[in-house]
Amino acid sequence: MSIIIQKFGGTSVANPERIKTIAEKVAKFASQGNKIVVVVSAMSGETDKLISLAKEMMKSPEPREMDSIVSTGEQVTSGLTALALINLGIKAKSYAGHQVKILTNKLHTKARIENIDSTLIKKDLDEGYVVVVAGFQGSDIEGNITTLGRGGSDITAVALAVSLKADECQIYTDVDGIYTTDPRVVPEARKLDSITFEEMLEMASLGSKVLQTRAVEFAGKYKIKLRVLSSFQTSGEGTIITFEDKKNMEDPIISGIAFNRDEAKITILGVPDMPGIAYQILGPIAESNIDVDMIIQNVGQDGLTDFTFTVHQNDMEKTLDILNKKVKDHVKAREINGDNKIAKLSIVGVGMRSNAGVASKMFRTLAEEGVNITTISTSEIKISVILEEKLLNKAVKSLHKVFDLETA
Ligand code: ADP
Ligand code: ASP
Ligand code: MG
Repeated sequence: MSIIIQKFGGTSVANPERIKTIAEKVAKFASQGNKIVVVVSAMSGETDKLISLAKEMMKSPEPREMDSIVSTGEQVTSGLTALALINLGIKAKSYAGHQVKILTNKLHTKARIENIDSTLIKKDLDEGYVVVVAGFQGSDIEGNITTLGRGGSDITAVALAVSLKADECQIYTDVDGIYTTDPRVVPEARKLDSITFEEMLEMASLGSKVLQTRAVEFAGKYKIKLRVLSSFQTSGEGTIITFEDKKNMEDPIISGIAFNRDEAKITILGVPDMPGIAYQILGPIAESNIDVDMIIQNVGQDGLTDFTFTVHQNDMEKTLDILNKKVKDHVKAREINGDNKIAKLSIVGVGMRSNAGVASKMFRTLAEEGVNITTISTSEIKISVILEEKLLNKAVKSLHKVFDLETA
């Protein structure tokens, strides 16, 4: 008998009809003799709505209260899903995160799971229940409700797969698998039958929101069999995340293109080029729990240099405030700017390791399209650039074509 985790995202539980449809899917798997744990997101748009409600009370809501509010979205869908299953004659029970003891740290709104006590779930599964767990939430050691960050139901699903030693973790969503790039931006994007874990981690962390980055990390660490599939189709294998490295010479060099419109670029002009400057700038940012992504320090001239980094655009104002109040005079910066009309575009592929010339092909294509690149960063298996947000779609489409991603 297999233990399968089935996670359904916001669009898959968007209304009662869809919940009934996914319940039928779950019922089919359950009737084949599998032990099923379902994880649900809130109805699509619900979490945003709850966040806006909280902001009507307070400009920057207290994170503890924010978590109590936003966690309700998943409680509603978990209960509804259990009802839909019971209506189909399936034994089902729903639980909120804290009830099945998803223990997290205290970092409200972006908490990390520390432990899951799955005794209760195991007992229910042994008694023949389908267990429905509200995604995206847990509680800290003192019982305060916490949430796991946007897209966090993916993490709930993978963490339960780890805790229950599940045979497979299936992520059902509104596309039928992982594509070479977001199919909503490039209709010619091609569905991949498999993608390596390493590539998926890069794609997710560089902005492909189809899977939450930490969920992929978790799955990699514990070697969970992870599959992405459509909740609307009745058949199809989706995309499996594999742990083997690609060996086939025929495999494409680039597996996919990821992009992220949520970042903002901060530039500090005319700071002294001397040891410790990066620490003096980034130290106060880190102390405020703001995550910094790309960091570039230009080659200095006349003893002065420019320093650029990116943060989530929601953190731009706070970052500028910290820099202006705590850093600017201290490091004698000439000017500090923020720009949130930017996007980060990345090409990803393990095949890049053994192929020179990928970067030049990328830069040549962007130049021919008249796309100006302001920042570049590379690793063994990815190249990321910052460009103007309004040029992003054009850039993604042309690179998708140039790197032959449309054809297998
Ligand atoms: P859910 O609500 O089910 O969690 P998400 O909206 O979080 O769904 O993720 C699914 C979406 O991810 C798709 O609708 C698609 O637009 C987007 N996406 C971005 N990059 C990719 C990709 N490479 N392959 C497939 N989907 C992608
Ligand atoms: N409902 C949460 C969100 O919108 C979590 C999730 O859907 O995974 O971010
Ligand atoms: Mg999601």
